[in-house]
Amino acid sequence: MGEFRVLNEFPGYEISRAGEVRRIGGGLLGVRVRSSGMRWVQLSNSGKTTSRNISVLLVDAYGSGAASAAGLKEPDMVRVRRARGRQGRARSGRVCHDCGRPTANYRCESCWRGVRGYGASAASDFASPFDI
Ligand SMILES: [Zn+2]
Repeated sequence: MGEFRVLNEFPGYEISRAGEVRRIGGGLLGVRVRSSGMRWVQLSNSGKTTSRNISVLLVDAYGSGAASAAGLKEPDMVRVRRARGRQGRARSGRVCHDCGRPTANYRCESCWRGVRGYGASAASDFASPFDI
């Protein structure tokens, strides 16, 4: 096996130029293949498991051309970055004023209950001071 590079997005894993992904300090991950021929692996980051296209991981780690060098289809990185931008905005959405948990409201359901004795859905008729 040759060189491995750590994945930026998943610091617990590294990838070789051939597209082999391994857990740092562990073994190679099993590669799954979609009917389209796309090869992907399952990675976990802070307890969350996600699947990632190996072509995208290769280009992230070694630059454009890395996927075709490994015998894979080059990913459309413009589309990938656009999709990541959307996820980033969704993650940086509203959080509860009191406890910081993600919420669609000024406070999360349980903090609204604590403050007013009823939940966020009942409270959504009230404008918060930060909505005005
Ligand atoms: Zn809360």
